[in-house]
Amino acid sequence: MYWFIDLEGYKFFNENYIVKEIAILSSDGTQCYSHTIYSPKNYSCPSNDSTFKFQYNRHRLAWDEGEHYFLDVMQDIWKKVYGHCVYVKGLQKKQFLEQYLFNVGELHMVPSFKKLNQCILQWCEHRHGKHCARRKVYELKNSTHT
Ligand SMILES: [Zn+2]
Repeated sequence: MYWFIDLEGYKFFNENYIVKEIAILSSDGTQCYSHTIYSPKNYSCPSNDSTFKFQYNRHRLAWDEGEHYFLDVMQDIWKKVYGHCVYVKGLQKKQFLEQYLFNVGELHMVPSFKKLNQCILQWCEHRHGKHCARRKVYELKNSTHT
C-alpha cells in the first residue's frame, strides 16, 4: 500500500507553496480525501500581482476560499498515510511535502499533467476544472497502473 498526493495553490518566487487544495488517493483506489485550505492570515492577498492572476486563472481556487487549516490537514494526512510512501509529481512539491511527511517519492516517469486526461470527471465538488488536486491524484494512479 502507498499513496498518491497532489496540491494546488499559489507559489511566488522562492517562497513556499500557499496550499489551497490537497488530495490523497490510496494505491488500491479505495480511499480518497481532498481538502480546501484557508490562506495564511499573516499574508495579504497579492491580488494585483500577475503571477497571482495567472495562477488563479489556472486553478480557480480563490484566495478567500478554504475549509480547513493547512496544518490540521497535514496532520490528518500524516495519520492516514502513516509509514507508507506518498508519491507526488514534481521535485518542488516533493521538497515542500518533505517538511510535513515522511517518505515522499517523486513520480519522474509520469508524463506532464497536460497529457493526462483520463480522469477528468474525478474533479472535486468545486468543479474548478482540470487543475483540481483530486482529479490529478486519479491521473497519477491511472498513469502508473496501465
Ligand atoms: Zn478540486
